[in-house]
Amino acid sequence: MKTFSGIPSSSGIAIGKAFLYLEEDFPEIPRYTIRKNQLEAEWTRLLQANGEAAAEIQALYEQASREMSKEQADIFEAHLLMLEDTDFQEQIKERLRANLQNIEWIVWEMSHELALKLAASPDPVFRERAIDISDVSRRLIDKLLSITRFSLADLNQDVILVVHDLLPSNVLNMNKAHVKGLVMDMGSRTSHTAILARAFNIPAVLGLSDITKEIKDGDKLVVNGATGDVIVNPDRLAVIQNEGAINRFRKMNAELLDLRDLPAETLDGHRVSLKANIEVPEEAEQISRYGAEGIGLYRSEFLFLTAGKTADEEEQYRAYSHVLKTVGDLPVTIRTMDVGGDKLLPGLRIDEKNPLLGWRAIRFSLAHPELFKTQLRAILRASMDGNVRIMFPMISGIEELEQALFMLEEARDECRKRGHAFAGHIEVGTMIEIPSAAMTADVLAEQSDFFSIGTNDLIQYTLAADRGNERVNYLAQPAHPAVLRFLRMTIDAAHQRGIQAAMCGELAGDPSLTPLLLGLGLDEFSMTASSIPQVKKIIRGASLEKCRALAGKALSSRSYHQVNSLVETWMAETFPPPRV
Ligand code: PEP
Ligand code: MG
Repeated sequence: MKTFSGIPSSSGIAIGKAFLYLEEDFPEIPRYTIRKNQLEAEWTRLLQANGEAAAEIQALYEQASREMSKEQADIFEAHLLMLEDTDFQEQIKERLRANLQNIEWIVWEMSHELALKLAASPDPVFRERAIDISDVSRRLIDKLLSITRFSLADLNQDVILVVHDLLPSNVLNMNKAHVKGLVMDMGSRTSHTAILARAFNIPAVLGLSDITKEIKDGDKLVVNGATGDVIVNPDRLAVIQNEGAINRFRKMNAELLDLRDLPAETLDGHRVSLKANIEVPEEAEQISRYGAEGIGLYRSEFLFLTAGKTADEEEQYRAYSHVLKTVGDLPVTIRTMDVGGDKLLPGLRIDEKNPLLGWRAIRFSLAHPELFKTQLRAILRASMDGNVRIMFPMISGIEELEQALFMLEEARDECRKRGHAFAGHIEVGTMIEIPSAAMTADVLAEQSDFFSIGTNDLIQYTLAADRGNERVNYLAQPAHPAVLRFLRMTIDAAHQRGIQAAMCGELAGDPSLTPLLLGLGLDEFSMTASSIPQVKKIIRGASLEKCRALAGKALSSRSYHQVNSLVETWMAETFPPPRV
């Protein structure tokens, strides 16, 4: 038995078998000349590989229809159609005859040429086809070379996934029903992979550096997503202790659900609003279970990442409308797409040295007016189905906010011309997640109906510490005096202008810092829905007056160490552990 310690990233405990998933590179494709009398045999090899690949995709299609989303199933359906494309088969046959080269080389060469052509197209729909072509030809070549490969969408038994790194799109597309825990070399609590693990209630420990070298496929693991411990091949006692902890964790969560219908109000009567963050539309069905008063952040970009393509206006409209109808009258804040960084749009490779400082979020949207306005029109149309709010990510200053508002006006005009109705008044908010935005919050407040503070990015940019890099994770301290000053500045600027200050970064769901945020004057806390009861419990047990005093002391502290110890002492005094 061996214990490793990483970054606790999604609470819960999982006990199960390790599945070590290391992505292999594309194989070297053999290239050789064939004789004329081998043509028939090469062609037969292709037909056979085609049949095997089709059977595999058909099975994946059926599994995805049963266990995953329609979008996921649609991708496999499109792959099947490509395999059956007789025109493409004829072209392969012609080149085989003309070039007299082995069939895997011909398939690779032709699909590569086609993918390159499609990837260069200005039309995003064609660019996305490039990815499909590469996927299908890869499967076909694997069959020709008798290579067995594994995709996380194909998981068919319960595992604890052990990986070096995992993109958010991989998390969305893996068969989540069978992923009971996640263990990763890279990443930290605010990386999007961690955010998704929490959204899907998968216990996760990230930032373990080289755990993939320590764990073997099939090892028994205990993953504690609350402490960050990963036990490899635990002894009987460790298993029994952890099984006990799983039961206690379940019981505690069930008890917290009793708070569902009670208001998020302090002992001295100060009321705040607790909302949910969602990444996929299906999550909206869960939020009432935890007593969320609406959706404070819908990360709309995940719609594109799940579908593996740019969703068109109709698809987006259906998704937004579904979310709005699911939550009834409750407000839904749709954040316009925050692509770039670690969330790359399929079919659009952006080659950047520093993606987190690059073409992300509103910068990308403003540079792609067609994509941006398509999304805005879809949101406007959906506004007829509920209480929608719009929010722009990564605003760095007033120029960007004004440009975004201008495009929203254009989208309104386009809806009018096309005869699409939309709500008369829709609140439009600004995310404060770049230091320059916090510093000019007073100016941004003039043009915003509300603020929402994205602490994941605000902390990353304030401390210059990449949120996905476990080596600098120790720097990402929410209680750093610089961060607290930015929070105070932002909240004060909002209140001076008479608008609300919300927070939708992970800090909003951290109960240990709830009193500090209350004291700073935060009006709305938006978080993974399952964190709401814990935060509510703290709010209901605290007084605003005392929280204000705590915030005052924290703001005049010199270091995050000092703030953390202040908060710890305050919490121990206010919420003494029950005597046994
Ligand atoms: C944030 O930065 O805090 C935020 C909520 O946005 P995201 O995590 O999607 O970047
Ligand atoms: Mg952000």
